[in-house]
Amino acid sequence: MALLEFEKVNKYFGESHVLKDIDLEVDEREVCVVVGPSGSGKSTLLRCTNRLEEIQSGEIRLDGTPLTDPNADINVLRQRIGMVFQSFNLFPHKTALENVALAPIKVKRLPEEEATERAHRLLERVGLGNQTGSYPSQLSGGQQQRVAIARALAMDPQVMLFDEVTSALDPELVGEVLEVMRDLAEEGMTMMVVTHEMGFAREVGDSITLMADGEIVERTPPAQFFERPATERGRKFLSKLL
Ligand code: ADP
Ligand code: MG
Repeated sequence: MALLEFEKVNKYFGESHVLKDIDLEVDEREVCVVVGPSGSGKSTLLRCTNRLEEIQSGEIRLDGTPLTDPNADINVLRQRIGMVFQSFNLFPHKTALENVALAPIKVKRLPEEEATERAHRLLERVGLGNQTGSYPSQLSGGQQQRVAIARALAMDPQVMLFDEVTSALDPELVGEVLEVMRDLAEEGMTMMVVTHEMGFAREVGDSITLMADGEIVERTPPAQFFERPATERGRKFLSKLL
């Protein structure tokens, strides 16, 4: 069953038509990898999903609930969608533990003790059980990004959106973040992942969605996408990676 559905989604920035009749269904437990050239609309698609951007027509639904209904409570919907960006945006004056526990306390009104205990467990899950008291400046980029993932998980989302979360990292730190994402996928998290990491896309992705010029060009299982893409544009995209 589709957990996240995009139906005829159109998004404009002024005159510029950046999402064109997007139809896409992401199943429960699916890892939907989105690739495509810069400017093709990948970030905009994710940002529309948690209403950081508004769409002009169409509908995005999570578990059957329209996310894009103007009357929908955005704050409630956003709790169901975790998002991690290229920039970690951690609170610099809070520890890793406080960064993870904060939103559950403030937004979900979880008792502090419970939120703290959960934050401990989440930091352990991303391999940072021994860094709970560290401030962001004391952590590497890879560690900060893992805190950001734990922070998103703290709201207990139904789906996680990842937008090029390893693009700003030094190459030697990319692996530890992808490892956490791979574990999440194995645990059955539904994920949309925009990435340039083709090894990850191939191994962890259940499907590869290629975007170009605001359109979905093809959506193919990874083995097929990397061996014999269904479209000429797919072939062109792959040939540029070599
Ligand atoms: P991608 O993530 O695939 O690189 P984006 O979704 O960031 O692509 O951008 C898609 C298109 O929308 C690009 O042409 C970009 O310049 C434009 N765009 C993105 N954000 C804005 C914005 N806030 N205002 C105007 N144009 C934007
Ligand atoms: Mg982008």
